[in-house]
Amino acid sequence: MPTPPAAAPPAAASPAAPALPALPALPTSPSAPEVTLRALDTLWFQVGGTVCNLACRHCFISCSPTNHTHEMMRLGQVRAHLAEAAELGVKEIYFTGGEPFLNPEMEAILEAALAVAPATVLTNGLLLDAARCARLAALAAELRDGPSMDGTRIRELTGGDGVDVVLDVTPMAQQPIRDAIEAVRWGGTIVLAGLKGHKPIELVTDMLINKALTVKGAFSVDAAGYENAIKLIESGKFPLHKMQTHKYGLDDVEHAIKLLAGEVPGEEGIHVAVMPGR
Ligand code: SF4
Repeated sequence: MPTPPAAAPPAAASPAAPALPALPALPTSPSAPEVTLRALDTLWFQVGGTVCNLACRHCFISCSPTNHTHEMMRLGQVRAHLAEAAELGVKEIYFTGGEPFLNPEMEAILEAALAVAPATVLTNGLLLDAARCARLAALAAELRDGPSMDGTRIRELTGGDGVDVVLDVTPMAQQPIRDAIEAVRWGGTIVLAGLKGHKPIELVTDMLINKALTVKGAFSVDAAGYENAIKLIESGKFPLHKMQTHKYGLDDVEHAIKLLAGEVPGEEGIHVAVMPGR
């Protein structure tokens, strides 16, 4: 990890140098002037605090496995700052520590950051095992290829046929409905289960007719529906964990609700879980 350059040794005082005049005392004010932050280019997170798996002698803030002077940042904290930074037009994000990958939420943090701006992680690399590298590579691929729910992409993946059924469970967002019409096959079904805040939606309804689609609304599920869903999850047939985009503890409930309501700039959630004790 980079360390600040060492300070130059002080120059030897010349015995002939004249004494400097005393500086006038600076005026003090109980209310110091403030400059409003109007824009932000670069954002640094000391996401690992001062905790590191190493204890290098040259470390500029003496990080070590036992230095808890600064604790690790939580995902909720990072998200709040990312939202502020997105509004200020942040262009790049850096993560440092300590060792960022000691933070158990680092991958989720990185995913949240990459939704806002390009990110760099300063790491000693010792915690980058094969499994973690594979997950980071999958995240990079996902970002490169764009959202997996994009209608055109789904048609490409199905050889132009489209899928039998599309379920829209996304709160507030309207684009998933347009994507659903694009992604579903001729004669297929679209199930709408994501509330959109009673806002009107612009749709080309000719597509519903031309493709002979069935559109259904679903308010809730019965016991048999839960049973089938649990069986499907247990089967491991689909990577359903990817649909759970956010997890929060009770301290971050307000942020979780705002995210679901589409009120957090730069962030979109599919499924948000609040987990007491997290
Ligand atoms: S943060 Fe960790 S790896 Fe980096 S210099 Fe400090 S002790 Fe070494």
